[in-house]
Amino acid sequence: MPGCAVITCRARSTCLSKTKGGVSFHRFPKDPNIREIWIDATGRGDWIPTKTSTICSRHFTIHDYSTKKSGNKYLREGAVPRENIVRICSFKEASVSSSNASTPRKKKLKQIIFTKDTVIKRQRKQIKRIQAQNRRLKKKIFKMEDIINDLQSKFSIMELSRRIKQNSRKRKISLGE
Ligand SMILES: [Zn+2]
Repeated sequence: MPGCAVITCRARSTCLSKTKGGVSFHRFPKDPNIREIWIDATGRGDWIPTKTSTICSRHFTIHDYSTKKSGNKYLREGAVPRENIVRICSFKEASVSSSNASTPRKKKLKQIIFTKDTVIKRQRKQIKRIQAQNRRLKKKIFKMEDIINDLQSKFSIMELSRRIKQNSRKRKISLGE
């Protein structure tokens, strides 16, 4: 995707370049919990990001960035998009509204549970997809095995007939014909 994954965002890598003081694009983090918050921020529901999916710098604050010695800015590890996003199901709101959590610790724990739950649901879907793929590949293997068996039997017939011919020729020679 050559642009920002946030559903309401129109930032495209082609229209604004980083060097022109425009927008920069950040790949989705590997940490499953943080990744989940990023996915949630896109507002795309059950959408799953690809390796090349990105979220643009419009959704991060200056505090999410650090500066290297070279002067280049980079997104801090663990940063999550909070700006200019539409959440279908916000982690914060969900945990606050559905909870009778009285203490910040309880609230935090509820939020963690909610995040993990969403991760599990998404991973289950991924598992199903992989299983279906697996079944398709197995079918392919069966077909291939059939072809191989077929070829092997054809080959052995050819080999057999070749030997028979050879033998009969030898016999003819030995009989002096
Ligand atoms: Zn964006």
